[in-house]
Amino acid sequence: MTPHSSSLREHFASDNYAGMCPEATHWFLEANNSGHQPGYGDDIWTQRSTDMIRELFGTPCDVYFVFNGTAANSLALAAMCQSYHSVICTPVAHVDTDECGGPEFFSNGSKLLTTESDSPAARLGKLTPQAVEQLITKRSDIHYPKPKVVSLTQATELGTVYTVEEVRAICAVARQRGLKVHMDGARFANAVASLRCHPAEVTWRAGVDVLCFGGTKNGLPIGEAVVFFDRALSEDFAYRVKQAGQLASKMRFISAPWVGLLENEVWLRNARHANAMAQRLYAALRELPGATVLHPPEANGVFVQLPREVIDGLHAKGWKFYEFIAGGGCRLMCAWDTTPEAVDAFVADLAAALR
Ligand SMILES: *Cc1c(COP(=O)(O)O)cnc(C)c1O
Repeated sequence: MTPHSSSLREHFASDNYAGMCPEATHWFLEANNSGHQPGYGDDIWTQRSTDMIRELFGTPCDVYFVFNGTAANSLALAAMCQSYHSVICTPVAHVDTDECGGPEFFSNGSKLLTTESDSPAARLGKLTPQAVEQLITKRSDIHYPKPKVVSLTQATELGTVYTVEEVRAICAVARQRGLKVHMDGARFANAVASLRCHPAEVTWRAGVDVLCFGGTKNGLPIGEAVVFFDRALSEDFAYRVKQAGQLASKMRFISAPWVGLLENEVWLRNARHANAMAQRLYAALRELPGATVLHPPEANGVFVQLPREVIDGLHAKGWKFYEFIAGGGCRLMCAWDTTPEAVDAFVADLAAALR
């Protein structure tokens, strides 16, 4: 991997600040050099990357490419729900807090039900079987939207990762109660790299029905794959994608770069690198009095509480990052191309600001 020139400024705001990785770029250009190709996904690149995703998971599944995660999640949930259904998720779920009501809009009104926010699991951004069960059984009357889907985010919005056991246990409750399971995998690669398991282990073998497999934050220019392990749920999904304005006419430029990610496990290599940079950042932050890391990172993000004036000082020095959690909690995301030098430079500026 050749990180970009260190004279170019890196940031910790989001893993989508990074550009596309060399392998994705290579296949993007290959697609452009392959002459005329049919539009709307009838091209050789879409066929190839779809086959590679099926091979990766080792099971027959239906795969659709869309432009972004909001569309992937919203359309997947809409396919899993009727308008009178509801979706169980955490209070920090991207589907609830950062998709502008997309899931509700595309499902014509399916309601999102969030679990309580002050349990130990919730503070780590996770659902538990108990919390899911509690929401499912809370009401059973006709006046309440019927729970139909459990949506879990892997890796979570708080940089933690569900173990295979945890996913299995949540899926078991869902199955027992007749609910389907959706996984928001915007950072699925980081989760699998962290777990060191086979991607099938933490998805369909654990009971996940639909995975939104993130490519953008893993090194693609653009694009996410919606993977239906329960193929009955994908009926008419192509129409949803088209109606939502998510069917790329030059689909090959979304799908071909996936070949670069999937070949030679580049997706895992990119994720492992981002995770390792988060560990490097974490190790340094732990040594700084005045910086309070909220919990050990398990993927590619570190969450740290810093004094107000220190945050302002870092921003003034040009570092971009989000204050994600109320009360001074900052989110520091590492990407496939984050350099150790950038981590060290950030830590040095932070240490100076704390003094
Ligand atoms: C980034 C992200 C998405 C996708 O967001 P888009 O901006 O719509 O691509 C979905 N879920 C989570 C948890 C994310 O972090």
